[in-house]
Amino acid sequence: MGRIQKAYETRLRWLLAHVGARQLDKGVRWWLDQAQGLSQREHVSLNQALTRRFETLACKRPFAPVRLLASSERFLCDAGLGGLARWLRAAGYEALWQADIGDDELLRQARVQGATILTTDSMLMERRLVRDRLIPAFWLPPTLGIPEQLSLVFREFGLVLRAPRCMACGGCLRAVEKEALRDRIPPRTYRWLNDFFVCQRCDQLFWHGTHWQRIRDKLEQTARAESSIRNPGPPQT
Ligand SMILES: [Zn+2]
Repeated sequence: MGRIQKAYETRLRWLLAHVGARQLDKGVRWWLDQAQGLSQREHVSLNQALTRRFETLACKRPFAPVRLLASSERFLCDAGLGGLARWLRAAGYEALWQADIGDDELLRQARVQGATILTTDSMLMERRLVRDRLIPAFWLPPTLGIPEQLSLVFREFGLVLRAPRCMACGGCLRAVEKEALRDRIPPRTYRWLNDFFVCQRCDQLFWHGTHWQRIRDKLEQTARAESSIRNPGPPQT
């Protein structure tokens, strides 16, 4: 069995158990059959079919509300998810990340910080503390790019867009008078913009330039799309 299939199977069993389903094996087999059928019919890889079938199923009743039980205010990204951590911070969430962090240290920090682990490592999902849900963790298929990772995390945890945090460290941003920072702001930027912010943790300076606007546009697009999946409008007639 492939790693991706195994990781989805673990999640599916957990979802089924949480809605009180008794025949977990039967449920898993049904989902596998569905994915295999889709893979053959539409000539997509089995992994893609597994992902699509899982996501369709998990968004439906009675599973959708269960997914939100795992809701978290603070995330701990594994070593490979530094890019996702930066985007989550821009969306207003605490997302801790450390390069080269080992599994044991990741688990220890998740416990100490009360954070939900985000990982692409299906082996980590098999660790006892994670399997028994003593430490909340969410697995992301390793094939996804950052925009898809972000969409999945928004959907899974029912996130909404908040006031941005520092993309470098996750600290809170404080609005500052631009006069006070004149020597730190490039002259052209100083002339054109009025809103400046300083990270209360690492002191990095931010402003709402075109780069920031592109990031915020992308985040708003993600938040809107995921919210419409969670709260579909009335059926069209
Ligand atoms: Zn910072």
